[in-house]
Amino acid sequence: MSHNKWDIMKKQSSLITGGECDMSEKLLAGGIEAGGTKIVCAVGTGPDDLTRAVFQSGSDPDAAMREVTDWLRAEQGRRGTLRAVGIGSFGPVDLDPASPKYGFITSTPKPGWRDADVLGRVRRAFPEIPVAFDTDVNAAALGERRWGAAKGLDDFVYITIGTGIGAGVVAGGRPLHGLVHPEAGHMRIPRVPGDDFPGVCPYHGDCWEGLCSGPAIKSRTGFAATEIPPDSEAWRLHARYTALALGNIICALSPRRIILGGSVPKGGLLGGERFFAMVRAEVQDVLNGYVVSPALEQGIGEFIVPPGLGDDAGVCGALSLALDELDRAG
Ligand code: ZN
Repeated sequence: MSHNKWDIMKKQSSLITGGECDMSEKLLAGGIEAGGTKIVCAVGTGPDDLTRAVFQSGSDPDAAMREVTDWLRAEQGRRGTLRAVGIGSFGPVDLDPASPKYGFITSTPKPGWRDADVLGRVRRAFPEIPVAFDTDVNAAALGERRWGAAKGLDDFVYITIGTGIGAGVVAGGRPLHGLVHPEAGHMRIPRVPGDDFPGVCPYHGDCWEGLCSGPAIKSRTGFAATEIPPDSEAWRLHARYTALALGNIICALSPRRIILGGSVPKGGLLGGERFFAMVRAEVQDVLNGYVVSPALEQGIGEFIVPPGLGDDAGVCGALSLALDELDRAG
């Protein structure tokens, strides 16, 4: 499947009847993509075999996570025994297994979710199976590695540009956590001369997220990204700022591929292919020939790509976290 096609075939959910698919049942896993607005859940064995449900996050983590675990349990009753559950969560989150707040969302401004124990709620509902936990973007990156645009790659970055900007980093085949976890959406980037838009990040003003998230575009132009005319200056600025950020990521992390997901890179009226073409050209301009690789020259069309899993990258990534857990357990 071409990475440059936006009309990715939607995966059909399919049901597996007990007894016929021992192998599938063995790998039956649950995935939870916990977002600030909605929580997408899936049970299955991969992108071609998923049943799913969507719940509102709301402002009560207890109520929201109960809906999620009740649904997973009902699916387990219908499809067979879950062997593991994976959670990819919005954040910031605590990823340190030695921390008393491991699996918590930490400093979010989202009402009700500050210091919410996401992992613990799922573990208490499924005490008999492993429950894996990571950032939403690290999970999406792992999903893209297992099934999507990063197959076979050990070093790459998955970025989402939507309500916020987040980056999942896979280094040496493993998601990078480090001190906390990467927060590349909040990197500072040089301003385009003459642009005095102050940005919308409550912490930094004009960080990358403050300049290029969906809310930033709305604040700058008065339009949602889907409504901006193709010839608008806003697209040129967006591509430039995004390229400056990607140039920093390329220089700092040396990824073998960058996957750009989320709603904004779909390009709205401009279209995803034109948006990606603008960003690729700007990245080459930003790097100015210093970082030498064919991937950044004639190969740039395969270097900066949309997610192979489309809008399913997040929930499939959560499922992949669970399957990784089973792989490790042998
Ligand atoms: Zn910021």
